[in-house]
Amino acid sequence: MSGVRTQVAIIGAGPAGLLLGQLLHRAGVDAVILEQRTPEYVLSRIRAGVLEQGTVNLLEQAGVGKRLRAEALTHGGVEIAVNHRRRRIALQDLIGKTVTVYGQTEMTRDLMDARKECGATSVYEAESVQLHGIDGTSPSVTYTHDGEQRRLECDFIAGCDGCHGVSRRSIPQEKLTSYERVYPFGWLGVLADVPPAWDELIYVSSERGFALASMRSATRVRCYVQCPLDDHVEQWSDERFWDEFKLRVGPEVAVRMTIGPSIEKSIAPLRSFVAEPLRFGRLYLAGDAAHIVPPTGAKGLNLAASDVFYLYEGLLEFYVERSSRALDEYSTRALHRVWQAVRFSWWMTTLLHHFPNEDAFAARVRAAELDYLFGSPLAQRVLAENYVGLPL
Ligand SMILES: Cc1cc2nc3c(=O)[nH]c(=O)nc-3n(C[C@H](O)[C@H](O)[C@H](O)COP(=O)(O)OP(=O)(O)OC[C@H]3O[C@@H](n4cnc5c(N)ncnc54)[C@H](O)[C@@H]3O)c2cc1C
Repeated sequence: MSGVRTQVAIIGAGPAGLLLGQLLHRAGVDAVILEQRTPEYVLSRIRAGVLEQGTVNLLEQAGVGKRLRAEALTHGGVEIAVNHRRRRIALQDLIGKTVTVYGQTEMTRDLMDARKECGATSVYEAESVQLHGIDGTSPSVTYTHDGEQRRLECDFIAGCDGCHGVSRRSIPQEKLTSYERVYPFGWLGVLADVPPAWDELIYVSSERGFALASMRSATRVRCYVQCPLDDHVEQWSDERFWDEFKLRVGPEVAVRMTIGPSIEKSIAPLRSFVAEPLRFGRLYLAGDAAHIVPPTGAKGLNLAASDVFYLYEGLLEFYVERSSRALDEYSTRALHRVWQAVRFSWWMTTLLHHFPNEDAFAARVRAAELDYLFGSPLAQRVLAENYVGLPL
């Protein structure tokens, strides 16, 4: 078995792993990324698209802000629509902050390109990744690549391998506490190359269910409708999707829409999940490896970035100041922000979706809460503060 040594072994080349790798590289800390898929597969996953300012700042710090600065859209507001009545939540006026629309795919591509350019090691198609000695001071990772068994010795392992990865599963079950809420619906999403008929995202609560009018650029839309969990993509022709979407967003928006063929269509189930603590010995979990939020609050990707920020600070303090204080505090610091986002994402999901078994009382309370949001600048401010992202 051939062996290599690095300071930090990063499992997973999603946004969390790539961002951590780039920040560490610029700080002079050596890291190797092991990813089980090909770069093309990683880039083909269509996911998030709304970045908080804190995430944008981290991308700048990682040296990958150039294309984002040129191509991203800045949004100073977001709309909530209830049965075709729309209310703009003026993020910039209410709290002086904006959000940035830039696809997760583009951010991932920028980070991959930067990593390639600086010559840092990423191993794609790393199979059978296994973690060893995480409860001691000399952990290592074994994997198979090109049919050859390899070993990576390291000081620390960053588990950035998403919710189905090997990292969280390597922690003894009795050392983790999990919290979960499964929602009784999914999101059917369509990506299409047509200009959006809306200037800012519209979150729609309608009698037919939730919808989200979103975009990735001035020429590409990403739209969603709430659907039953047992629906299949094959049941949803493009025509059926757009007809349903138009009914939910209402005639005022529908009449301005250009329709185009889908270039991607998928159904994502919605759930909230947290496993804590985020550390076991020398293994640190970050991003979806430790927590999942429903996409309603646009928080998943941003939480991955904030975890990375805290972990990066901890690793830097260890290597520069020879202190493990910030690493010891990583889980507590990251989880504080995680739970704030879990709460907000749960609240947005509960407020805007149609729950199949909702009783009359719950429906009236939900309607009252939406009424309150529409009428109260203070309630709008609370939404705005959470939507743009709480401070790091
Ligand atoms: C369908 C879908 C839609 C979403 N939409 C939104 C949205 O609109 N807004 C939002 O904010 N968030 C959204 N999210 C969430 C957001 O995409 C995630 O929070 C984000 O991708 C987390 O990044 P990550 O790097 O932690 O994990 P991931 O992006 O999951 O990356 C983990 C990486 O680890 C690799 N890996 C897994 N197992 C192994 C292993 N054993 N060995 C080596 N590598 C491994 C995977 O191949 C992957 O490349 C969505 C998620 C999904 C699934």
